[in-house]
Amino acid sequence: MAIEDLDFVKGFCRMCDDGFAQGWHERNGGNLTYLMSTDEVAAARPGFDEPREWVAMGVEDATLAGRFFLSTGSGKYMRNVMDDPAHNIGIVEINETGSAYRIVWGLLDGAKPTSEFPSHYMNHCVRVAADPTNRVIYHSHTPGVIEMSFIVPLEDRAFSRILWQMMTECVVVFPQGVGVVPWMVPGGSDIAYATSKLMAKFPAAVWAHHGLFVSGPDFDTAFGLAHTIEKAAELYIATRAANGGSDKFLNYITDQDLKDTCRDFHVEINPDFVD
Ligand SMILES: [Zn+2]
Repeated sequence: MAIEDLDFVKGFCRMCDDGFAQGWHERNGGNLTYLMSTDEVAAARPGFDEPREWVAMGVEDATLAGRFFLSTGSGKYMRNVMDDPAHNIGIVEINETGSAYRIVWGLLDGAKPTSEFPSHYMNHCVRVAADPTNRVIYHSHTPGVIEMSFIVPLEDRAFSRILWQMMTECVVVFPQGVGVVPWMVPGGSDIAYATSKLMAKFPAAVWAHHGLFVSGPDFDTAFGLAHTIEKAAELYIATRAANGGSDKFLNYITDQDLKDTCRDFHVEINPDFVD
């Protein structure tokens, strides 16, 4: 079977398409990586090309050394992935120390994995340590989250509480809250380490004035998390605008409401983020 026809590749391409349809991937914005299982590597291996040269990542973590990832390409557009996977995405193998990758399929004509691959790799390592089922890391330019990052404190607790209070089921979807990375230059090892430090505690991290990083055990869960966070952020922006710009609303979901919801839905709320 051609690599393009394997289920995990089709799911990956669909997620790229879904994100584009949401308006989260202008031009070459956003990127997606997927940690392949042993079975998926075995199914894909007959279609691998001659491996290309090793490329240092600038970060090092042995947690996922020797594993294989499906990744979007640097400079590639999410809207083109579905029509031409082999030019826009590719499979990379990580070396035995977790410090370099090499391309084994796709990314044709000299393409490379996303420039955020070091961030993705580090996030995969810390998320797998926090949750062994984690497989997906997804970065999107979600407009509501970006807008929110200009007008609310860039603090994990404050940001998480606002999101929880904007829509009842938010606290059930991400009861740990979200982390917030201050504005940083993207693409390098500094932002990779800063993000992975937060992703060790949270399933999602906001990049101020830039977008969102989320994780998940499968495409549905990771996409659903980004979708939920972004919807809450958009609700906040719209509610605040309708409220004359003030952040003092007439009605609120209270801390007790948040705790009661978590109790009934059997999830554990981050105790540091409620009074
Ligand atoms: Zn970005």
